[in-house]
Amino acid sequence: MTDCTVRTLVDALDSRYPRDWAESWDRVGLVLGEFDAPVTRVLCVVDCVPETVEQALDAGADLIVAHHPLFLKPVSSIAPDTFKGALVHRLIRAGVALYTAHTNADVANPGVSDALAARLELTGLRPLAPAEGAAAGGGRGLGRIGTLPAPMTLARFARFAAGRLPVTAAGVRAAGDPDRLIGTVAVCGGAGDSFLAVAARSGADAYLCADLRHHPVSEHLAAGGPALLDVAHWASERPWLDDVAAWLRADHGVEVLVSDLDTDPWTVHANRDDLEIRP
Ligand SMILES: [Zn+2]
Repeated sequence: MTDCTVRTLVDALDSRYPRDWAESWDRVGLVLGEFDAPVTRVLCVVDCVPETVEQALDAGADLIVAHHPLFLKPVSSIAPDTFKGALVHRLIRAGVALYTAHTNADVANPGVSDALAARLELTGLRPLAPAEGAAAGGGRGLGRIGTLPAPMTLARFARFAAGRLPVTAAGVRAAGDPDRLIGTVAVCGGAGDSFLAVAARSGADAYLCADLRHHPVSEHLAAGGPALLDVAHWASERPWLDDVAAWLRADHGVEVLVSDLDTDPWTVHANRDDLEIRP
């Protein structure tokens, strides 16, 4: 198809990821762009930041599909001397549209956590927290729980996950007995703190997500919950971009590129035994 416009793709994205499936605090859909502008090339990114905008401009993309919203809180200015204002100006000047599918893509089936679970070869997937409200039913919900092809120890599963997920400086950390046997795994793309209790009730041997913190993790383990794996936020959501890209290519005939630019803020990971540095 060569007559794709921003409107065609916004309508398609809105029907795959309906806006009313998003959390009430979320801000999804078209952020900027002319509805009638033609689209031949799309770039899928986790974050709309200067580096990925640069990538879109270099690639000649007409539309960026981003996971994280550019604006989550109201602003009173998009002046070009503000971080986000500069991006808005840059995109509009270059004629590049920007669309966001965030928690509405998390909850979708297939959604963000399905792509993460697929990287880990989990099968028999079901939602960790089944969707309620507008998104209820259809196997939709936040997070997924499934089974590994064969059980393995936590230490081995952490290395397996590190090998299957996109490489980041942060890597993969695991909490719990390294020899614990892991067969059933719960996953959640992005920050997963809020589902610790749900993961504990789910019967999973391990729960993998991003942005875990000291106290919630310690308390969760002390209460006998599943082992925990903390991965880079970007790495947990990057697999979904391939899913969106494949669907856009197949259903809309547009050229779709996927950004592998690691937009996770962590850039260095050091272990004392890696290398001895002398000042
Ligand atoms: Zn996220």
